[in-house]
Amino acid sequence: MRDLKLPDQRHPEKAHRPDNAQPKKPAWIRVKAPGSEGYRETRDIIRGQKLSTVCEEAGCPNVGECWSLGHATMMIMGEICTRGCSFCNVATGKPEALDAFEPGRVAHAVAQLGLKHVVVTSVDRDDLDDGGAEHFAQTIRAIRHRAPATTIEVLVPDFLKCGPAALETVVAAKPDVFNHNLETVPGLYPEVRPGARYFHSLRLLQRAKELDPSLFTKSGIMVGLGEDRQGVLQVMDDMRAADIDFLTIGQYLQPTPKHHRVDRFVTPEEFAGYEKAAYGKGFLMVSATPLTRSSYHAGDDFDRLRAARLARLGG
Ligand code: SF4
Repeated sequence: MRDLKLPDQRHPEKAHRPDNAQPKKPAWIRVKAPGSEGYRETRDIIRGQKLSTVCEEAGCPNVGECWSLGHATMMIMGEICTRGCSFCNVATGKPEALDAFEPGRVAHAVAQLGLKHVVVTSVDRDDLDDGGAEHFAQTIRAIRHRAPATTIEVLVPDFLKCGPAALETVVAAKPDVFNHNLETVPGLYPEVRPGARYFHSLRLLQRAKELDPSLFTKSGIMVGLGEDRQGVLQVMDDMRAADIDFLTIGQYLQPTPKHHRVDRFVTPEEFAGYEKAAYGKGFLMVSATPLTRSSYHAGDDFDRLRAARLARLGG
């Protein structure tokens, strides 16, 4: 008997698309082109300090806007990752040894850029016993020393192959925000994030808050990878059970044809629905728009996050 494919009733734009075709990029995915004076200044400082950024390595669509404002997300511990997630543009392979001077150069760049809030992330370093936790801690301390007024957000790997000491090392260095992205719904982990474990990542976030209840915890997912609304709502419930404060949701964009395909473009109205649902579940802050990325507008969001906590404590 022939396998009849029924039209997708929930997402009619998918109904007549062959399985391997990419959906057309919609009008709401529009970004500022790189090239402003501010963009060039940011680029020169990053190049001058020989630093890597996730903005460039991941091919982030917001780089024109963020860099024109001097906002760059530092990526430490090299440009080679030990994992091979199907959504990510960072190269997979055998990383180089850690650069002991990198924390100082990151701190110098933060001071040069005059950042009031910095996001520091890294590749996965499963080759290191502590997953790079001490390097994160050294970077936090260097920024505190060089730019004491700057608030610090770390977007860390999952430290899956390390003992609990790795997380404790990062938390003890006292970042202001502890961010770790769940990236997608658990059912898509085998194809999207094959080296990771959903419940381990959730537990990492929960444990960070237990170790230091003054920390803000933050996590994000991409949509348009093949998940459904019910799955996204379940992730929100899981995150709230882990006491996560801040949720980000953004549209997945395929960096190259070799990467995971875009299943669909989620509409701005659906994003607004996710934001409303997430606030209803008790998150302190939610950012859910097509161009939301975990570090997009992170400084302004941090101010709002602090205000939201104070308001909740006061209320
Ligand atoms: S959203 Fe984040 S990763 Fe993208 S350009 Fe802005 S700071 Fe960089």
